[in-house]
Amino acid sequence: MAVEPFLKPYNYYFLKKQAAILAQTHRTVNAKSTIQAVQAQIFDKVKATLSELSEEEMTLVMGITEINDEQRILDRYLQRMKERVIPFKRPSDTGIKKAFPKTKKLTIPDWERLDLADYSFFAWNDPGQQSKFILYTVNNKLQGIQGQLSTEIKKGICTICHGESSVALFTVKGKANKDGHYKTKGNYICYNSDECNQKMQTFEHFMDFVTIVKEK
Ligand SMILES: [Zn+2]
Repeated sequence: MAVEPFLKPYNYYFLKKQAAILAQTHRTVNAKSTIQAVQAQIFDKVKATLSELSEEEMTLVMGITEINDEQRILDRYLQRMKERVIPFKRPSDTGIKKAFPKTKKLTIPDWERLDLADYSFFAWNDPGQQSKFILYTVNNKLQGIQGQLSTEIKKGICTICHGESSVALFTVKGKANKDGHYKTKGNYICYNSDECNQKMQTFEHFMDFVTIVKEK
């Protein structure tokens, strides 16, 4: 029986990172006991992180333990996992406009050129408006966040992926106070959201970010 896709893009990037650690260990460590210890650690980590998988799905994922120092085994494993990824659902133009109701000039991404299996959320920069547009789905509902993106890029930790990255301050205008001043909330996030997606190992921090940004 064919297994339907069951991995989220961030699950794939998590497995990719673990697989790379394992391959690297095989290449650089001679002591068998050390290799076995790393293997066991990764085994436990994968099991805990992907605890909601079915037995059949878990068996496929656990093919990670077959990884050795050969590049082709690593590549084959990653390819097999990539095929199991549920892609980001392509939104309609109307859906995007609804997600950003206050934006008049909206650039619609060129979906045909993208592999949507790469994205846990989808975001793009509009340098003209110094803005970042973020699309994501919660309970199958498309949501949008638009904010100002600083052009000043620096090294730092991203709020969304928690990776070390080239980050920029992203600010969202909140509600106006009684005296007409807007409350703004800023977070440092990856300037490049494609890279951010690849660094994501969980969706948890993304949702924390959403909660902070959307808080009134
Ligand atoms: Zn990031």
